[in-house]
Amino acid sequence: MQTVLTEPSRQTPVLGEYEVIVLGGGPAGIAAAVTAARAGRSTLLIERHGFLGGMGTAAGVTNFCGLHANVHGNIRQVVHGVAADLLARIAALGGLNAPHSLFGKTVAQSYDTPAYKIAADDLLVSAGAQVLFHVLAVGAVMDGPSRVRALLVETKSGRRALLGRSFIDCSGDGDLAAWAGAPFEKGDGHGHMLYPSTMFRLNGIDPQRAGKAWEVIPGLMLEAEAAGRYRFPRKTPIVRPQKSGIEWRVNLTQLANAQGDAMDGTDVQELSDAEMLGRRQIASVAGFLKEVPGFENSYVVDIAPQVGIRETRRVHGRYILTESDVLECASFDDTVGVNGWPLELHLKGDVEFRWPKIPQSRGFNHLPYRMTVPLGLDNLWVAGRCASMTHEAQSAARVTGACFVMGQAAGAAADLAQTADCAAADIDIPSLQTRLESGGAYLGRSW
Ligand SMILES: Cc1cc2nc3c(=O)[nH]c(=O)nc-3n(C[C@H](O)[C@H](O)[C@H](O)COP(=O)(O)OP(=O)(O)OC[C@H]3O[C@@H](n4cnc5c(N)ncnc54)[C@H](O)[C@@H]3O)c2cc1C
Repeated sequence: MQTVLTEPSRQTPVLGEYEVIVLGGGPAGIAAAVTAARAGRSTLLIERHGFLGGMGTAAGVTNFCGLHANVHGNIRQVVHGVAADLLARIAALGGLNAPHSLFGKTVAQSYDTPAYKIAADDLLVSAGAQVLFHVLAVGAVMDGPSRVRALLVETKSGRRALLGRSFIDCSGDGDLAAWAGAPFEKGDGHGHMLYPSTMFRLNGIDPQRAGKAWEVIPGLMLEAEAAGRYRFPRKTPIVRPQKSGIEWRVNLTQLANAQGDAMDGTDVQELSDAEMLGRRQIASVAGFLKEVPGFENSYVVDIAPQVGIRETRRVHGRYILTESDVLECASFDDTVGVNGWPLELHLKGDVEFRWPKIPQSRGFNHLPYRMTVPLGLDNLWVAGRCASMTHEAQSAARVTGACFVMGQAAGAAADLAQTADCAAADIDIPSLQTRLESGGAYLGRSW
């Protein structure tokens, strides 16, 4: 079989020129685009789906983690800024649940996907950012080794080029950073990435009878496995109510390839296999859940539009956040905000949490600006789950709270770099921090 085909060279129409181009509309991309646009920069966010929210909507996550931290035994909200604006809009639409306790150690906050999508549209539009949906980024054109000049995209209108002065890679997969030549890594050093999952939601639950079903489900799973009736893809289920109480989200699948490793979200064949495997697992798990008191009449109301990818490329930046930074609650002079979520490692067949000491520690680590600046590039930032972190640290700071923080920082930094006409690595850090604080962000410099 022929293995390579030479395409004819072509002229690509330029769709537009912007001061800031953000790739990806997840929490990092939303915060980055809103912040750059609010600074007065002509800003374009592109997204391959027809809605914003990233894994939070496309993968059916429906739950914010990392907005809070356990600060010496007291649970406090530690992520504000753009995140707070978005939450207020979701709440105004009636789609935000009250925070719920997790392991008695912290809280998370669930939301309804439609409200998130509408709120995010509103937020971007009100900030003055432009959004283009149904656009798949496919490559970069460089202006020398350290500057990105254009993002190449495929659309229903054909292939186009988007010219920009600053680019922020919030693709979750580090797509743009990789095309631009930034170094990156995948997995834990032995090729093992966090396992993906397909999320789904059940409706038709009797909230009174179900009560705190999440406390009994792990035991029922053990019994069902011991009796040989079910074999679950992973332990440590997350089965929790949405705001309505009749609808619950289920996070109980785990997607491994034929070798038993995590399906790779940058491999088209594995992505396809993962979609089908996720749905097969859901068919089995949903059958089991009907045995839970209060779930007898439950039915699968929604399977997430796409498989949920936790980890692919982690781009190497000027600092790499580590496991001990998270567990020891590290401080950095160039803090741009904080992560209060523990390590959450999706390992083979299970999920392992590792926490900073409670209540002795302050329960959060600083996120240094340098983790958003890829090595060797002057006008590119990377924010969100593909930012510069080790495999272990990423299992913590990949959750939504920290992604909002990094996105807001990158959006503000792009504006400052253009004003000062300097490289990403050379911006004035105190000015960035002042800007972020005036935008409502908490940098973790008190407590
Ligand atoms: C199953 C699962 C459960 C989770 N549970 C929770 C939870 O309970 N709470 C929590 O806070 N976090 C949870 N997370 C983690 C969290 O949702 C994500 O890590 C977070 O959304 C990452 O944000 P991001 O902005 O970095 O990237 P993403 O959310 O991945 O967003 C990236 C966006 O970029 C777009 N994109 C990517 N490549 C391209 C391209 N080439 N062209 C155009 N568009 C592109 C994608 O479509 C996507 O919209 C979970 C993750 C998974 C997978």
